[in-house]
Amino acid sequence: MMIQFQTQVEFYENYIPVQVQIFISRGLFSLTTTSELNEIRSNLTLKLPVILKRKKIAYSQFKIRISTNLPIQIAKCVNLYTLESPIIKSIVDNLSSDPHGQSYYKPAIVSLSTQDSTIEGNIQEHSPDLNLQYALSTLNLLQNFELISIFLVDSQHLSLALSKSFKSVYHSQTFIFNFYKYPDLINHLLFFLKFYGSNEMKYSFIGIENLTKFKQETLYQIVKNNLKNCLFFIKPCRCGNFLNNCKQCVCHSLIRSRNMDNLSGELISAIDFTVNLFESNTQKGLVVSDFFFTTLADNIQDLNKITHKDLESIYICSFLQSYLEDLYSTFDVPKPLIKSLVTFSSILAYLRGRNELLFGDIFDVINLQSNWYKYAKDSKFIQHRPLA
Ligand SMILES: [Zn+2]
Repeated sequence: MMIQFQTQVEFYENYIPVQVQIFISRGLFSLTTTSELNEIRSNLTLKLPVILKRKKIAYSQFKIRISTNLPIQIAKCVNLYTLESPIIKSIVDNLSSDPHGQSYYKPAIVSLSTQDSTIEGNIQEHSPDLNLQYALSTLNLLQNFELISIFLVDSQHLSLALSKSFKSVYHSQTFIFNFYKYPDLINHLLFFLKFYGSNEMKYSFIGIENLTKFKQETLYQIVKNNLKNCLFFIKPCRCGNFLNNCKQCVCHSLIRSRNMDNLSGELISAIDFTVNLFESNTQKGLVVSDFFFTTLADNIQDLNKITHKDLESIYICSFLQSYLEDLYSTFDVPKPLIKSLVTFSSILAYLRGRNELLFGDIFDVINLQSNWYKYAKDSKFIQHRPLA
């Protein structure tokens, strides 16, 4: 008899599906497993006879072999013990005894799983105290236009709430990795992405500043070809307002930039923009950003409606074209960054109701990001930023 079913195991608060196969044949009792299940084999060997005996099933007449499709490296970092009870339950359910105490097993293949399960992140929790709608549409907009950004938040709670809501509203295939809770999961991430990673998935990394520089570099190496699918959250300083264009950082100047100083250079230079997400001073619970200026917080619909087609129709005059070329040739600003700058400022122009990109739009973006550029990138071109 073969029993086959699908269940899931926990991987750092995310869930990955596991296909379990159990072969039962007649013979002297033995329980074998494939090597990925080594950790729980002895437990099963002890528990199963006891439970079968209690159900009056003559366990001694069965040879049981259990296997799964779990890659061995992943098996090392998931909680395999969650597999014990579904395995035991399926065996007990499928073996039963007749009134004379004669054990028998049901014929044919039994499959307990009917639904397809896919890899899932954790169950969403809503934060009733926060209105995240505007912040979420900002996250979604940046992701849609592949504007690689780092999100500066003032609390771990907010980044977790944003990640979970982003998953439930925009992209169910979002995996959340919380480095506050699991600073050591980085090695396991490699295995995870090797086996399960795909372009369909999004990843939310919370608390990058909690990783050592070396681990940040490892993370960067893991995700560098897929940055557009990553959400990075970091608390920039103790108060969380460092680099915020709308709020004042109140941290002592000696420790203010410590978290930012600890960021890996490679990671910093790969990220084009920063966006601060924080609770509004005027509207309690409303999470706003310093992105596109906060006055647009009312304009949630507009942020969600912007498409690539909208931006394609935005005209760039030849004067501006030559300015952008100059950024590349004179100031060595990398072409992908110039492209992102243009996208970012085109969104601003569009939101301002124009179908032409103006110098002012680019100026505003550079101005809004100048703290970050000064901090993170070669600041030459900031000093030569255009006049409004
Ligand atoms: Zn601060």
